[in-house]
Amino acid sequence: MSGHKSQTIRWFGLTGGIASGKSTVAQMFVEAGVPVVDADLLARQVVLPGSLGLSQVVQAFGTKVLSQSGELDRKKLGQVVFGNPQALLQLESLLHPLIQLRVLEMRSQFQQQGHSLAIYDVPLLFEKKSQAQFEAVILVWCDLETQRIRMKSRDALSDLEIENRLRSQISLDEKRKLSDFVLENNADLDSLREQFRNLLPKLQSFEKA
Ligand code: ATP
Repeated sequence: MSGHKSQTIRWFGLTGGIASGKSTVAQMFVEAGVPVVDADLLARQVVLPGSLGLSQVVQAFGTKVLSQSGELDRKKLGQVVFGNPQALLQLESLLHPLIQLRVLEMRSQFQQQGHSLAIYDVPLLFEKKSQAQFEAVILVWCDLETQRIRMKSRDALSDLEIENRLRSQISLDEKRKLSDFVLENNADLDSLREQFRNLLPKLQSFEKA
């Protein structure tokens, strides 16, 4: 996926719903040589031991959010922010600039390497209302029944847990209305692969209206 070095890299958001196939598509991008940035991974990297992020989190919430070995204990942090919107907002506004800075660094690194496009893999892209930062958004869609079946076989959840998790996200049918490109993943992987192959050149030539 190399392009002209002076060209600005195209930055696409990739999202889906629980078990819709987003990670499967992210892997296809990687195999096609397109860099993929994992938003969840990045959110963990900015609070690694010794990071500015971790020291800011400790300053805000105290050493009670640390494990014995000095790492961020997500469970304890979760307990602090759970049901406390103000604390959650404080945490997010503290981490957001650090994540954005890393994103900018990575984008310019990809651009220097000659890539013409890169993908940001974000599970809750629409829930976090972050669509404006992308040239376009790619959605991996499947119908509700397929989502249920994949969740059941992958995560071994009860019917109630499945419904609760599905309800906690915007439905894929709603997300579809907000997306620029949709990969339909109700059928087999070959069908998904074919759609992916058709999508790539469209992304390479995509111009924002
Ligand atoms: P989550 O965000 O919940 O982690 P995801 O959207 O990243 O999920 P994947 O992990 O890619 O989804 O896929 C969910 C499960 O469904 C996986 O076990 C994957 O192997 C399987 N799967 C994805 N697409 C297909 C397909 N077309 N046919 C059969 N199985 C599939």
